[in-house]
Amino acid sequence: MLVYATHKGGRYLSLPDSLQEQPDGLRNLYVNITNECNCACTFCLRNMKKMAEESSLWLKKRPTVAELKKALDEVPWEYIKEVVFCGFGEPTMQLDTLTELLRYVKETQPGMPTRLNTNGLGELEYGREIAADFKGILDTISISLNASNAERYYELTRAKYGLQSYEAMLDFAEHSKKYVPHVVLTIVDKVEGPDEIARCREICAQRNLTLRVREYEDS
Ligand code: SF4
Repeated sequence: MLVYATHKGGRYLSLPDSLQEQPDGLRNLYVNITNECNCACTFCLRNMKKMAEESSLWLKKRPTVAELKKALDEVPWEYIKEVVFCGFGEPTMQLDTLTELLRYVKETQPGMPTRLNTNGLGELEYGREIAADFKGILDTISISLNASNAERYYELTRAKYGLQSYEAMLDFAEHSKKYVPHVVLTIVDKVEGPDEIARCREICAQRNLTLRVREYEDS
């Protein structure tokens, strides 16, 4: 449900292991609220079942809001520099829980930066603009762009909503700019080659969105 990582590319660890590996210094707190997702990405770490089940991010059952708040209450906040809501799973599948917890973090830890890693399909999932739900409680939203066109995007993500998913994800990114200070689109370096990454840069430039090329995490 909760794991910690001390540096970019660092391992996700439980709290005792994280403190043992690096007793001092700041780290990110990663929170998984659901294993559900409306995509079935070819590269999803959830497909590596053994690894997923061994990770303390994988949920054996969906936690209640009370359980999640209790877990957050037990976090040693003096060691945390950012709270990241992420997978295994798509956090917006539990939108009410997600926004309640983001608000809880802001109330109990004022000034603590918050981030959401999302596939950006929440507006298709709920049939409405959900970007406004994050106003004042989310500092950074990181949206998986994955590809430069709807066909390639669908091939990679096998999104439940089909080819329309790509434009909907980009629209969500644009809507988010009104409510979230930092909106970042991401693409994984080893999944796509340099030409595709260049096309993604163009798409982001046209829409005035920031692109981050992420390293593929295969372990
Ligand atoms: S959107 Fe994320 S959690 Fe969902 S299938 Fe793709 S990689 Fe996995």
